[in-house]
Amino acid sequence: MHVLVLGSGQLARMMSLAGAPLNITMSAYDVTTDRVVHPLTQAVIEQTLDQAIAAADVITAEFEHIPHDILAICDKSGKFRPSTDAIKAGGDRRLEKTLLDNSGVKNATYYVINNRADFDAAIQHVGIPMVLKSALGGYDGKGQWRLKDAAQVDTIWQEMQECLNSSTHQAIVAEQFVPFDREVSLVGARSASGEVAVYPLAENIHVNGVLSLSTAIDAPELQEQAKKMFTAVANSLDYIGVLAIEFFDVNGELLVNEIAPRVHNSGHWTQQGAEVCQFENHVRAVCGLPLGSTKLVRETAMINILGEDTLPNALLAMEGCHIHWYGKDKRPGRKMGHINVTADYSGELQRKLCEIADHLDENAFPAVHEVAQKIRS
Ligand code: ATP
Ligand code: MG
Repeated sequence: MHVLVLGSGQLARMMSLAGAPLNITMSAYDVTTDRVVHPLTQAVIEQTLDQAIAAADVITAEFEHIPHDILAICDKSGKFRPSTDAIKAGGDRRLEKTLLDNSGVKNATYYVINNRADFDAAIQHVGIPMVLKSALGGYDGKGQWRLKDAAQVDTIWQEMQECLNSSTHQAIVAEQFVPFDREVSLVGARSASGEVAVYPLAENIHVNGVLSLSTAIDAPELQEQAKKMFTAVANSLDYIGVLAIEFFDVNGELLVNEIAPRVHNSGHWTQQGAEVCQFENHVRAVCGLPLGSTKLVRETAMINILGEDTLPNALLAMEGCHIHWYGKDKRPGRKMGHINVTADYSGELQRKLCEIADHLDENAFPAVHEVAQKIRS
């Protein structure tokens, strides 16, 4: 079988690595350069998008910010999974909020802003403090504002206006600021026949809006809540593939933050920590194969490598420490790779995280250092 992935970044790369043992080959379409490439080597494949679509058995996506005309072309072939509606919902916070409401899952109170009058209405409806998020194009905390005080309204409005004027389709979604205890996410898969398999929840630590550290956790009550919401959202989209849902944990009650209609950074730990990883399960689902077990096989944490292109070799010498590079050129803050750390029990995982922290620069890996400090104290 051959799969065409829309997007040619690290997620396409890891999908192609996971598909290979199943004899599933992959090509990737770089949406920004309009080129078909090999997802591992980035070597250009001399094909137009139409030719790549014709050559593929299945088409999927590694990200949600895909121009709608490209989605329409893929949709026409009848080969696209999960569905163009799912991708659109992941890429537009207005559609996403409607999806969450229609699926009956709890999410933060919100109000859609198109002009200044809407902004004033949002302040009434949602209240201060609030988080403002661009409806289109947001990722890694970009395109967001925090309104903490009424005195900031005019200054923030100037910036919001610029954002609104940048595209005729743009809008801003105002959201109640959620005083969460922690952030968790659920990654899972749904097959064409409606079978759902979810991984254990991951607890996520973000630094400046970017995921830094994810740890698989054992939290039966939260897991049950999360799985119910996951199933509701996946069923309402008639979803096929891996889907991720980010949650706020407020006093043991989960509120959906956002969804990602694809494999997700907070699921990278499954490469070492689960029976079958998220990449393989996505490939299996979109290719119509049975889903693999999502069972946790080892305690695992994942550390994102941001803006660094070398790590001490001592890490490779550590048992249970696995480095995954993405083959990208170094840029400040860029997701360059990740480290998966596994252990037989959680105390051992904590000890390993401390050991890893000792090898890593505190400025480049602040979350690991913070966690190590907490473990030691
Ligand atoms: P990514 O695509 O990397 O997940 P994003 O740009 O889509 O990020 P969000 O996940 O919506 O953005 O927000 C980024 C982070 O900002 C969240 O992980 C959370 O820490 C914080 N945040 C977002 N919305 C709220 C909210 N309503 N209340 C409190 N904190 C929030
Ligand atoms: Mg997020």
